[in-house]
Amino acid sequence: MDQGKLEKQLELFNRTCRERRLKLTYQRQEIYRELVLSDDHPSAETLHARLKEKMTMLSLDTVYRTLALFVRAGFIQKVETIESQARFDAGEERHHHAICSQCNEIINFSCTSIDELRLPKALTSWGEIARRDLVVYGICRKCLNKQKTSAA
Ligand SMILES: [Zn+2]
Ligand SMILES: [Zn+2]
Repeated sequence: MDQGKLEKQLELFNRTCRERRLKLTYQRQEIYRELVLSDDHPSAETLHARLKEKMTMLSLDTVYRTLALFVRAGFIQKVETIESQARFDAGEERHHHAICSQCNEIINFSCTSIDELRLPKALTSWGEIARRDLVVYGICRKCLNKQKTSAA
């Protein structure tokens, strides 16, 4: 990610925190920055391991709580995986996800037909829809190829 884009996103984050009166602590800023710089949808554990080097006092619990706060505030997206660990993404643009069940890699994709999909009446009468995310589960091409070679 280029420096200008990173700074712009961090600035927006700082401004939004101030506007919503969310405490802008050093830890929160660093956790957000690390997530913006990660394009591999890290879990809380992975993020914690990456941040631990420069923030030796940072606890995993703080990372969990901070990420939950960011999700509620709409700063980041949470991707539910089949495994117990949720994964996180601070990408600006709205997108959907595909998860490989073998290597656990998560990729982003955009799809306007999903965004514009007419929802069934059961949902529209259910209430107000805030967000719709699609998660596609499967096995990625890389892992499929590996399976083929090991089978041969
Ligand atoms: Zn894979
Ligand atoms: Zn993503």
